[in-house]
Amino acid sequence: MAGGQVQELTHFVGGRETPGTSGRFGDVYDPSTGRVTARVPLATTDEVDAAVRNAKEAQKAWAATNPQKRARILGKFVNLANEHADEIAEALSREHGKTVPDSHGDLQRGLDVVEFAMGAPHLLKGEFSDSVGTGIDVYSMRQPLGVVAGITPFNFPAMIPLWKAGPAIAAGNAFVLKPSERDPSVPLILARLWKEAGLPDGIFTVVNGDKESVDALLDHPDIEAVGFVGSTPIAQSIYEHAARKGKRAQCFGGAKNHMIIMPDADLDQAADALIGAAFGSAGERCMAISVAVPVGEKTADALMDKLTERASKLRFGPSLEESSDFGPLVSAAAKERVESAIAQGVEAGAELVLDGRGARVDGHEDGFFVGPTLFDRVTPDMDVYREEIFGPVLSVLRAADFEEALELPTRHEYGNGVSIFTRDGDTAREFARQVDVGMVGVNVPIPVPIAYYTFGGWKASGFGDLNQHGPDAFRFYTKTKTVTQRWPSGIKEGASFVMPTGN
Ligand code: NAD
Repeated sequence: MAGGQVQELTHFVGGRETPGTSGRFGDVYDPSTGRVTARVPLATTDEVDAAVRNAKEAQKAWAATNPQKRARILGKFVNLANEHADEIAEALSREHGKTVPDSHGDLQRGLDVVEFAMGAPHLLKGEFSDSVGTGIDVYSMRQPLGVVAGITPFNFPAMIPLWKAGPAIAAGNAFVLKPSERDPSVPLILARLWKEAGLPDGIFTVVNGDKESVDALLDHPDIEAVGFVGSTPIAQSIYEHAARKGKRAQCFGGAKNHMIIMPDADLDQAADALIGAAFGSAGERCMAISVAVPVGEKTADALMDKLTERASKLRFGPSLEESSDFGPLVSAAAKERVESAIAQGVEAGAELVLDGRGARVDGHEDGFFVGPTLFDRVTPDMDVYREEIFGPVLSVLRAADFEEALELPTRHEYGNGVSIFTRDGDTAREFARQVDVGMVGVNVPIPVPIAYYTFGGWKASGFGDLNQHGPDAFRFYTKTKTVTQRWPSGIKEGASFVMPTGN
């Protein structure tokens, strides 16, 4: 923010930037400098109610708009977002702390899903069966739910709101977003672009807030479905709350993603992949690799040499500086949490090969930086292994053989992503089939599926039964109605008292 000014942000309701009325605000920081750059209003229950009522009113006409016309607006939005990509990426980096090229990736991965959702006219087609009985046809249709809510995390402020908004809106719903209060500017830019693309007022709404606004959405009788992404304890509590209120819910949580490195793997390739996947975005990705599992002592020793050499050369720095490989963590609290997790690892007996605590960047002494941190000889009982750290910390856990390596991610509480590096097709195939994790990479470090497949973790990484994006998103954001029809000319027999069987 130029001149150290603190900007006051708004909500976005009914197609307008709407100032908050609660008198409560959250501070938004530039994590590279540690300075407050904006204040985000925290909505009251009444403000949430007004936003939902507005969305409900707008949704009826939107649902009645033919899906191809709806899809055209999504297309215009994608074009506008691409035209504004530099502005969005810079705003994202300023509040999140990831580098600008990484912010472009955040936006692009979101737009991929909006592009997929432009297929709504096809994706919303129902089924039809002719003559299931004499003169009787059956067909099904997918209808929008009404008003749906998205509650999203700080780490992908463009991508995850768009993963939800794209399919929800394309399917004819009104979408109310409660973004993270840490980096709320990008969702507000997206809201302005949706309006500019021609989306009717009230179909994409942003209510900023904290627990009060989330509870207000969960309790609101006109919110039909809740899509959440964030940490596991909150994901679980939101899933339970939504279920109690009879709402459809999909809630995605935290992760501890492993990469298995077999003795036959190309170790340079595996080390490069690990460095990017562990330290990119300062490890603040739900698909970051935080555990490396080399198989056999020889593989482990060779891999450790390569990792140590590469990780010690990484450049962390301000998010807008081109030379930075990764930026600061999102908040002072995150830095403190990550540094205390490192201390716990040391106390538990893990071998600290690189220590990122006390990291300093000249001219940015108050930034929330943690340097690359590498642990060797971590064991499954240690907290550094069991808990999500969400920082630039890579733990190496040595496995004796393939079976032991397979057991680790399979037994772990989380089950988001996992990957294996090997040159052996049979090993890779067995691993992919047996491992108890939702998304698997083979010689691919961050196996985030493309937009037309679905994204979702297992076990404590996901609550609910449908994944994000891909065809599942259209199932989640629509309800199926099945119609059995017979026209009067076909009714000749009079009343029937026997259960209809179609024969
Ligand atoms: P978070 O759980 O702190 O916050 C997520 C959202 O929930 C935010 O909008 C926040 O305002 C809201 N929230 C926070 N506390 C709440 C409470 N007590 N009651 C109601 N709402 C509350 O998560 P975060 O720190 O923003 O994001 C990081 C986490 O998200 C990590 O655990 C990461 O693994 C996870 N994540 C998961 C996925 C996935 O697809 N599985 C993707 C991205 C991030």
